Amino acid sequence: MQGEGEIAFPALLESLARGEPSPRLIRGRPPDLDTLPFVDRDLFDVRAELDHSFYPGVLGLDPPLVTIIAGRGCTYNCSFCQPAERLLFGPAVRRRSVASVIAELRELRDRYAFRSLMIHDDCLLEDPAWVVDFARAYRAESFGSPSTARAGPT
Ligand code: SF4
Repeated sequence: MQGEGEIAFPALLESLARGEPSPRLIRGRPPDLDTLPFVDRDLFDVRAELDHSFYPGVLGLDPPLVTIIAGRGCTYNCSFCQPAERLLFGPAVRRRSVASVIAELRELRDRYAFRSLMIHDDCLLEDPAWVVDFARAYRAESFGSPSTARAGPT
């Protein structure tokens, strides 16, 4: 499979269930990120993430730490990961709405009372207007305390 799997992979499973042959190459289709369910953290050892403190002496990301992804893709051209990143996610950064990210963070606050947040996007700061909107919404929600709830490097 090449690309994003949320649409193509279930379609493949349905096709195989009908007894159709598996194609040699399956090209994924980029989903609208706001239509995807939040990460099901019961599927992995979320406690390992919550209790993990990223570089505590440097970043001070105190546990409980939660991580999210707010968007996919990157517009830069570092040889470290291009053109793979573009092949996977396309040429532009696609971002969830601020409302969607805040809704996931509310759920994480209610479940885990997180004190630190790491946003794992490859290109978070590429859209300053989104970042400002997010920061305002984040602040209005009073997630964690101002001294401990910090965004990690992305
Ligand atoms: S994801 Fe990071 S390493 Fe890759 S192109 Fe973007 S900025 Fe460069």
